[in-house]
Amino acid sequence: MANIGNPFTPSEKKAVLCGSGELGKEVAIELERYGVNVVAVDKYPGAPAMQVAQSSHVLSMLDGDALAQVIEEEKPDLIIPEVEAIATPKLIELEEKGYKVIPTAHATFLTMNREGIRRLAAEELGLPTSRYEFASTEEEFEAAVGRIGCPCVVKPVMSSSGHGQSVIRDASQMKEAWKISQEGGRAGGGKVIVEGFVDFDYEITLLTVRHSAGTTFLKPIGHHQVDGDYRESWQPQAMSPEAEKKAQEIAGSITAALGGHGIFGVELFVKGEDVIFSEVSPRPHDTGMVTMISQDLSEFALHARAVLDLPVPEVRFYGPSASKAIVVEGNTSEYEFIDVDKVLEEPGVQVRFFGKPEIRGHRRVGVILATDETVEKALQKAERAYSKLKVKIHQ
Ligand code: AMP
Repeated sequence: MANIGNPFTPSEKKAVLCGSGELGKEVAIELERYGVNVVAVDKYPGAPAMQVAQSSHVLSMLDGDALAQVIEEEKPDLIIPEVEAIATPKLIELEEKGYKVIPTAHATFLTMNREGIRRLAAEELGLPTSRYEFASTEEEFEAAVGRIGCPCVVKPVMSSSGHGQSVIRDASQMKEAWKISQEGGRAGGGKVIVEGFVDFDYEITLLTVRHSAGTTFLKPIGHHQVDGDYRESWQPQAMSPEAEKKAQEIAGSITAALGGHGIFGVELFVKGEDVIFSEVSPRPHDTGMVTMISQDLSEFALHARAVLDLPVPEVRFYGPSASKAIVVEGNTSEYEFIDVDKVLEEPGVQVRFFGKPEIRGHRRVGVILATDETVEKALQKAERAYSKLKVKIHQ
């Protein structure tokens, strides 16, 4: 039975959102459609989800004590992580005390560290992955590269969005790759994973929803990454029925092992009929923003349903669609989207501006969404819209 009271009363459902970026903002909006009281948390004030939540707290979510203090103060029905960088051992303690962590505290703990999730996928579940080794020192790292062979990919075990990641094409690049890995990781150095380079035909995110009525797989999302960071995505990615079946089997297996209710972004590499597991995020995925235009229920709407223990009897797919990230570079706390009217001239185009309070270096500040008769046309439409947009950086 799923009951939802009105906000700010003893019957309310309260959610603490750990992470208040653009994905969290959409989750907050979708939860609020059900009258949920959303408390947004992040390390800086004015974060996107804070701008739509009923209240917020500014703190480092890697600080377990600070996080626990906010949770004990707010006493939420749900703790919903939006990012990986959270004191996940503290989430395990909070879960033991009776708090509900989405999808489970153990899932957030395992997926925070590439080692945890890779060992679960490859060694416990027997899923196909790239060859890999872990290394904690430069010596171990060089030996691991020697065994895996070139080309290979190096990533800090605590990292995301391409931070600290590089490809080693020959042994001469080894020293530089180690240096990059030690500077780019979330924990500031430490253990890395060395992965055999997968020469895939294409890569996908298979969004998988675990909800009260079962597990639903969405149409595969293809995407294009630059330096490990997503720039464009499209749905559906054409796949052979055989490859799609394998992808669903892998996604079903890993999400069942992680457990709980919510949406999962399962990242897979596809080469011919072979499907290789790469990683999984137990939360909405950036490449899944395309679902804001391609489906009746976006990945955020589905996440809200799932975490509230509501069923997902159907997801209606509207048609081929694309998303294009608006990434800008600068150093400012004021910027302006110019010619937005021109961007929206064509039918089948939408935009989302995230409202980030400042830009320091590269920052994703919005996304263009487009839909058309084919994926190719949708991608071209998104590109046309993007080319009409200017971002003015105020000094
Ligand atoms: P990740 O942070 O692990 O999702 O990696 C970011 C991106 O780097 C992926 O989406 C791929 O495009 C690329 N990548 C990561 N691992 C490999 C690999 N073993 N072989 C080839 N490309 C990879």
